[in-house]
Amino acid sequence: MSAVASPPLHLTEFANEPYTDFTQPDKADAMRAALAKVRSEFGREYDLLIAGDRRKSKAKLESLNPSKPSEIVGIHQKGSEQDAKDAIEAASAYFPIWAETPMAQRAEYLVRIAEVIRRRKYEFDAWLVYEAGKTWAEAEADVSEAIDFCEYYARQALKLAKPDPLVQLSGERDELTYLPLGVGVIIPPWNFPLAILVGMTTAALVTGNTVVIKPSSDTPTIAAKFAEAMLEAGVPAQSFSLLIGSGAAIGDVLVSHSKTRFVSFTGSRDVGLHINELAAKTPKGQRWIKRVVAEMGGKDAIVVDRECDLDQAVLGVLYSAFGYQGQKCSACSRAIVDETVYDEFLDKLKSKVETLTIGPSDKFQNYMGPVINKRAMDSILKYIEVGKGEGRLIAGGEVAGGDGYFVKPTVIADIDSKDRIFQEEIFGPVLAVTKAKDFDHALELANDSEYGLTGAVFTTNKAKADKAKRQFFVGNLYINRKCTGAMVGAHPFGGFNMSGTDSKAGGPDYLLQFVQGKAIAEKIS
Ligand code: NAD
Repeated sequence: MSAVASPPLHLTEFANEPYTDFTQPDKADAMRAALAKVRSEFGREYDLLIAGDRRKSKAKLESLNPSKPSEIVGIHQKGSEQDAKDAIEAASAYFPIWAETPMAQRAEYLVRIAEVIRRRKYEFDAWLVYEAGKTWAEAEADVSEAIDFCEYYARQALKLAKPDPLVQLSGERDELTYLPLGVGVIIPPWNFPLAILVGMTTAALVTGNTVVIKPSSDTPTIAAKFAEAMLEAGVPAQSFSLLIGSGAAIGDVLVSHSKTRFVSFTGSRDVGLHINELAAKTPKGQRWIKRVVAEMGGKDAIVVDRECDLDQAVLGVLYSAFGYQGQKCSACSRAIVDETVYDEFLDKLKSKVETLTIGPSDKFQNYMGPVINKRAMDSILKYIEVGKGEGRLIAGGEVAGGDGYFVKPTVIADIDSKDRIFQEEIFGPVLAVTKAKDFDHALELANDSEYGLTGAVFTTNKAKADKAKRQFFVGNLYINRKCTGAMVGAHPFGGFNMSGTDSKAGGPDYLLQFVQGKAIAEKIS
């Protein structure tokens, strides 16, 4: 095991990583240089990493630039079932050593990973621009959040190593400690391909678990860059594997393996439910009930009350609905607007939507880039057709042209709560607008969803805001601000019902998902 400075580790109070201001010419120049450097590495081939063992395979997976799909960002080895089994076995073999590594030492690795990513921030931004279609600002937010997760979980781990004292019975020393679980399978989505990947991985590692990471097939290069950062930070190569390949082909092998102890998943409702069902089965030889943390989809609503700053509400809806092309689990896909301000809201929103610039995400001036792939674009366009039948098209409603997967920001008004585009997650730049009779009706409509991830309310009436705090059934509620942009430490993140297990990533309770408590009572004379 590589040597690290001994504990104790003293860390300053957590603070969120500041965002780079790209309006400053030197910062913009640095970003352009990073984009050029990353572009010069397009088409490079990456190996599978099985606990430090680099492997190639015959079958390859190409990741593409969604702004220009003829460009291959990275070429990856498609992992086989055998690779998946080997990765779990290797993680299981190294687990006892990693579990014995002091928490402070593991926490220090996280701080070092944060240092590496911080040093290479523009480069990581650039990979996100090219592989995930993020604009500069969205890429910067994703990379900053990844750094935040490392720094925050390092601090939380030190706290977990010193739990609050228990009641001390006479003649006994009573204590509670937390043990790691074992081998974890980490399955992130493509939409926060660095932040969520880093958050789930580092939380599992810092608490003493070994992991097998299976990133999304759309964003494997960013995952490979993170693996590089972990190795550069000195994280033992045996503590993790990076397995690229189709979720369906190797995902089931990883999830159902008898040596898998837990699965940490973020993605869609259907895949999350499938994983949950599969993990509930106990194959021969398995000695535990697998734990599943599954953070899933959203159909997030913003309620616009008659008593509000309407201009602020319009901007809140605009940024929540169309930032990163509506491809955030927290994106506003339903605006529920009081009937007295409904027409004015639509007029103002339409004129703002028409100002949004859309095009290749490596061009700083574009507010919106492409959607992730052709399948996503086709699915979004189908939903737009459904929406046109269900309501009144106010803006967008078609592709934006160009080489990439560009879909215009689309607003469809007069949507009923039973309509498909009100109920189903589209995961693209499509906003349904619905009229409410009053605030209570608006809350009722907002809660008429199987999801419960984020929501926002724009109102200047304190009693109504208080009512929303009690009755708007979402894991993350925002008052008089947009419903996207959760910050680590300030907005622990996770939703209710079909939005998942409400694990509250980036919050003080999150690490508890990755440990098991052990109470020890020792007789003292
Ligand atoms: P997805 O469910 O299609 O894929 C997520 C991951 O699961 C990918 O890595 C994929 O390869 C893998 N996968 C697919 N089938 C699998 C299987 N059978 N076994 C194991 N793994 C399998 O989701 P996506 O398209 O990557 O991401 C978008 C979805 O994620 C949206 O629904 C969005 O709302 C949700 N999301 C939720 C949160 C949250 O915190 N709640 C955050 C981000 C994204």
